[in-house]
Amino acid sequence: MSYVIEAPKAVSLPVEGETAAFPVRRIYCVGRNYADHAREMGHDPDREPPFFFQKPADAIVPSGSTIPFPVATKDLHHEIELVVAIGSGGRNISVDNALKHVYGYGVGLDMTRRDLQGEAKKMGRPWEMGKGFDQSAPCTALKKASVIGHPAAGAIWLKVNGEVRQKGDLNQHIWNTPETISYLSDLVELFPGDIIMMGTPAGVGPCFPGDRLEGHVDGVGDLTVAYLK
Ligand code: MN
Repeated sequence: MSYVIEAPKAVSLPVEGETAAFPVRRIYCVGRNYADHAREMGHDPDREPPFFFQKPADAIVPSGSTIPFPVATKDLHHEIELVVAIGSGGRNISVDNALKHVYGYGVGLDMTRRDLQGEAKKMGRPWEMGKGFDQSAPCTALKKASVIGHPAAGAIWLKVNGEVRQKGDLNQHIWNTPETISYLSDLVELFPGDIIMMGTPAGVGPCFPGDRLEGHVDGVGDLTVAYLK
């Protein structure tokens, strides 16, 4: 195929133990999937059905990067999350079958321009520009489920400049990985290359130019990203 303008570059994530990469099609994010985070955002953590939003695939930033501080925000927040990478697609996937569709796992940041998100909420407008901005999805290399299994428990934390800001456990997800895949596949058809950011524990807060963020999920990996001064 030839194109009339330069075609966009494919987005991918490295896979530990493989020379080939995982091509990223879409980034789905689950909102308010930890009760303590739902509470800190002013919501009732009762088990409402999960809800989803997207980031563009090219928002991915490889772990280890130093990147410019995002434009148009005075309140950039960190949200450390488990990343689920879909290896085989489908629609109306049952909870019992859901994990068969997972290729692997990573550690990601759902960076959020909280001021823009808050304004959008107040105005009844989409969150898009608060969530789906350039370089808003730093992510580690994936680890294959065939190697590490399917983590359902384990510490998840985030440090800013060496200080712990967020701390939780994967077992605190309101909707676990199979349930989330099943719900999402009732709303949209999932395809190989889709990734799901599984929501963040409490402790979200602001980052500033020059900050260094380190995130961790037990058995899955360690993420680092720094913002230019
Ligand atoms: Mn999030």
